[in-house]
Amino acid sequence: MSSIAISLLDLEADNFVCLEPEDYQTREGKWCAGCGDFGALNAVKRLLSSEQLQPEKMAFVSGIGCSSRFPHYVNAYGFHGIHGRALPIATGLKLARPELDVFVVMGDGDCTSIGAGHWLHATRYNPNLTVLLLDNNIYGLTKNQTSPTTPQGHTSNTTPRGSFLPALNPLQATLGVSNASFVAQTADWVPAHLYATLQAAYEHPGFSFVRILQRCPKFTPDVFTEQVKNPDLTELLIHEDGVNAPGLDKLFKARREHDPKNLDEARALAQRTDMLRLGIFFRDDSFPVYDEIRAVSPVSAEEKTTRLEKEFDRYAV
Ligand code: SF4
Repeated sequence: MSSIAISLLDLEADNFVCLEPEDYQTREGKWCAGCGDFGALNAVKRLLSSEQLQPEKMAFVSGIGCSSRFPHYVNAYGFHGIHGRALPIATGLKLARPELDVFVVMGDGDCTSIGAGHWLHATRYNPNLTVLLLDNNIYGLTKNQTSPTTPQGHTSNTTPRGSFLPALNPLQATLGVSNASFVAQTADWVPAHLYATLQAAYEHPGFSFVRILQRCPKFTPDVFTEQVKNPDLTELLIHEDGVNAPGLDKLFKARREHDPKNLDEARALAQRTDMLRLGIFFRDDSFPVYDEIRAVSPVSAEEKTTRLEKEFDRYAV
C-alpha cells in the first residue's frame, strides 16, 4: 500500500520567495523524544533551504520504518512506499522525471534486509539519487526486532539471548559493489558534519549513499552512548574533496587525511572497528550514471501512436 503526500508552497511566479528551513516542514515529526530522526530532518531542511530547492521540483521516497515517515514531514512530493522497495520506486521516478531532485530515506531493516537486493543493484546502476540510510541498529517501528546491523549480543524480541551474528557493515557492503560512486558516514549527534555530508551527497552526480548513525533511545539506547559522550572515540576523515565541516576541530582531535578516490583505503577503513569514522569514504564523480545512460529523447504524441500501431500489427492474424 502506498500513499502520496503532496504539498506545495504558495509560490508566486514573479516573486522570488526565500525559503527558510522551517518552510520545508509540513508538520511535527511523530518520533519518540530524543530520536535521531529529528536531527536528520533538521539537516535535510537546512540543505533544502541552502540550495533553495523548490518543493514542486523534488521528491522524497521511503520504504517502511520509523525513518520512513520522512516524506510526510517534508514539504515536497512524497512517496511512502512499501517495505524494502524505496530504491526501485525512486529509480523509476528519476528515469521518468529526470528534472526532479529525488531523495531516498530508508532504515536499516528496510535497506539492508528486505531491500538488500535492491540496495546492491541500485548502487551498481548508480542513478542520480541522494540516499539516506538511517541506521539505528534495530527494527523500531515494529517494536524491537534484531536487524542485520544490530550488534552481536544485543537482546531484542527476536533474539532474547542476544543477536548471534556479527553485524552487517553497510559501508563495507556498498563499497564492495562495482560502480559504487559515493559512500559516506555521519551521525545524527554531530549536526554540522551531518549537514556538510548531505550537501556533498546532494552535489554528487550519481548514487550518493550516506549512512547516518541514528540514536534510538527506545530500543537501542546504549549502542552509540560511548561515542556520543566521548568524541575521542571518533575519527574524522578529512580531505579537500571530503567533508570539511567548520567548528569541529576542537571537538574531534582524531583526524585522518583520506583521499576519497582511494577505493582500497576506503574499504580498509570501512572494515576497521578501532574507532568510529565519519566522512566520505569513497567518491568518484566520473562513474556512469544510469538515468543519463538510459535517457530517452522526447517523443511526440504522433510518433508514439505510430510506434504503438506498429507493435499491434505484429500480432495481427
Ligand atoms: Fe525513533 Fe526508536 Fe522511537 Fe522509532 S522507536 S521513533 S527509531 S526512538
